[in-house]
Amino acid sequence: MKRVCLYLFALVHVLGAHRWVGCITCSTGCRRPSPPPPRPPPRRPETASAKTLMDIGTRGIFSEEHDLFRQNVRRFFQEEVVPYHTEWEKAGQVSRELWQKAGEQGLLGVNISEKHGGIGGDLLSSSVMWEEQMYSNCSGPGFSLHSDIVMPYISNYGSKAQIENFIPRMAAGKCIGAIAMTEPGAGSDLQGVRTYAKRDGSDWILNGNKVFITNGWMSDLVIVVTVTNRDAKTVAHGISLFLVEEGMKGFSKGKKLEKIGLKAQDTAELFFEDVRLPAEALLGEVDKGFYYLMNELPQERLLIADMAIASCEFMFEETRNYVCERKAFGKTVSHLQTVQHKLAELKTEICIGRVFLDNCLQLHAEKRLDSSTASMAKYWATELQNKVATQCLQLHGGWGYMWEFPIAKAFVDSRVQPIYGGTNEIMKELIARSIVGKN
Ligand SMILES: Cc1cc2nc3c(=O)[nH]c(=O)nc-3n(C[C@H](O)[C@H](O)[C@H](O)COP(=O)(O)OP(=O)(O)OC[C@H]3O[C@@H](n4cnc5c(N)ncnc54)[C@H](O)[C@@H]3O)c2cc1C
Repeated sequence: MKRVCLYLFALVHVLGAHRWVGCITCSTGCRRPSPPPPRPPPRRPETASAKTLMDIGTRGIFSEEHDLFRQNVRRFFQEEVVPYHTEWEKAGQVSRELWQKAGEQGLLGVNISEKHGGIGGDLLSSSVMWEEQMYSNCSGPGFSLHSDIVMPYISNYGSKAQIENFIPRMAAGKCIGAIAMTEPGAGSDLQGVRTYAKRDGSDWILNGNKVFITNGWMSDLVIVVTVTNRDAKTVAHGISLFLVEEGMKGFSKGKKLEKIGLKAQDTAELFFEDVRLPAEALLGEVDKGFYYLMNELPQERLLIADMAIASCEFMFEETRNYVCERKAFGKTVSHLQTVQHKLAELKTEICIGRVFLDNCLQLHAEKRLDSSTASMAKYWATELQNKVATQCLQLHGGWGYMWEFPIAKAFVDSRVQPIYGGTNEIMKELIARSIVGKN
């Protein structure tokens, strides 16, 4: 009898049938299956099976709180950014009021701790900001650079006084941040930086110039990557970061640079001529700047990558709508099998990209994202973005080439993504190093 019971017990378990037969009663004292576990809450759909790639309430990495936040952010972009963007494209910059409105709504410094004067949200909430900006197709506001590239340097390496002075004002949109690494002769190769700060008593005297600086024209505060020790064993060992403020004597801004895309985003040249900086302007420790940059760059690359996939999602939906409306040969373009297959290919690749990106976001939220994985995400996602941009524009025909069509804007905006934040060639260098070591 006991053997029969054990046999029955094993069979029901193998078949997973204990869930529906309940328990097996037996008087011989054999073990009874445990009661069925409580049903897990319904799983959130991933983008591949969602109605659209931009649906709220999807993706397992997010919660209902993130959904609520996303609704607010989406509303903000639709109401406060979309209606004014064309005007800002002509001006080559967004308005100051926009920054303050974003600050009032708690949309700046989302992932900066509350005790430092930030909003105290998690990394995934920051990613909601990055993605929603791409879904609005409005590249003008330099929020992500300000909140998730510049503010973390101050929060992570700043003194108490620097944190108290800058973070609350930055979160309020009253102090716009920029970071200046690139120089006319030094982009990919930061060892080529010539901007130099010389000690003068307890002060520093800063000289040099920077180029291609996002938020540069509107900036109130710039983190300037500077050589402080010309005798260091390598340039990297002699680099420091300084906080330079608008209005400091000798600090000036060149004209807004005219770009082929990102028309409403201000990008400028910055000049430093004998700028006297007090000791308190040094961010973190002297000669540790390169180390800080290496620590913070993975987040910058993740941010670019997530924005790239979000842009793909936007372009895909824009194109799906267009081909379902546009008529040719008596039918909508979406009736053509070649078009259907193209959409199928694009959706598949975008959804694969989204899975990898969500995994990277989750890893970074757990502080486990390494530099090589962030580089893979940046390189692959921005290449995909450019491929999707080209193919989606093609599906729009001639109208896709017209500025009034959103896909035209998304196309030109995508071009810079493989260039800044470290070019994709440099990303491959970093990935390769993790494969074969540093030669
Ligand atoms: C719109 C825009 C906004 C920007 N915002 C900022 C900002 O806010 N702050 C900032 O500091 N910078 C910013 N940049 C600068 C950007 O980061 C640099 O342009 C980028 O790092 C490349 O540097 P570079 O332009 O000097 O190109 P170069 O370094 O001269 O590269 C030229 C080419 O050579 C390749 N190359 C170079 N070295 C290698 C190598 N070792 N192996 C293989 N290929 C290599 C590059 O990949 C590239 O294709 C911005 C740029 C743009 C266009």
